[in-house]
Amino acid sequence: MRLVFLGPPGVGKGTQAQRLSTQRRIPKISTGDILREAVQKKTLLGLQAKSFMDSGKLVPDEVVIGIIRERLKESDCMEGFILDGFPRTVPQARALTAMLDRNRSGIDRVLNFELSDEELIRRLSGRRSCPNCQAVHHIEFNPPRKPDQCDACRGALIQRSDDRPETIRKRLDVYQTQTLPLIDFYKDQGILSRIDGSGNPEAVYRRVTDAIGK
Ligand code: AMP
Repeated sequence: MRLVFLGPPGVGKGTQAQRLSTQRRIPKISTGDILREAVQKKTLLGLQAKSFMDSGKLVPDEVVIGIIRERLKESDCMEGFILDGFPRTVPQARALTAMLDRNRSGIDRVLNFELSDEELIRRLSGRRSCPNCQAVHHIEFNPPRKPDQCDACRGALIQRSDDRPETIRKRLDVYQTQTLPLIDFYKDQGILSRIDGSGNPEAVYRRVTDAIGK
């Protein structure tokens, strides 16, 4: 099963992708996670990407397309995958179609997660992330047992530099102008499902499994 999870920052698609990945045993591929790891390790990719990410802008298409092209060649992707945060522009979506066509395969379904801006801002501004194991907490909705400590690995939780209020606004603007056109792109292909992103993660997960089938 080859899936794309689409939606604005903070809608919870990463959380849902992680659950589904564990349950269906297919990899979750998040360009955001790959880029953050590169920034942390100060690789050439990380150095290229950092300033775009810190200011809430998109990393150039050719960079992220290259990342995905290499990642999808790995053997764990043979049975399927969940793309979380890619594609984010029409050129990225076209490049993905071309990559998969070459393997005579295509995307089975695109889930578009929806939530009001007000709720997105609440979720993003209270989010605390673990740079060690990528787990995500929220100061209000999913607080860690010990303040600022990851429940899963006991790493120190941080606020992502792009989860600060001024950058959140920019990321939502970027989503509106650059990513929203993908909804029509996939609707026209007849593979788009809308997912109400409101409520707790369990409720959203039920909508996800309803949309993709057992
Ligand atoms: P995310 O964790 O998906 O919210 O991504 C964090 C940041 O990484 C974004 O704000 C972008 O700067 C960058 N990024 C992640 N995925 C992409 C993508 N598909 N295209 C361009 N930039 C991306």
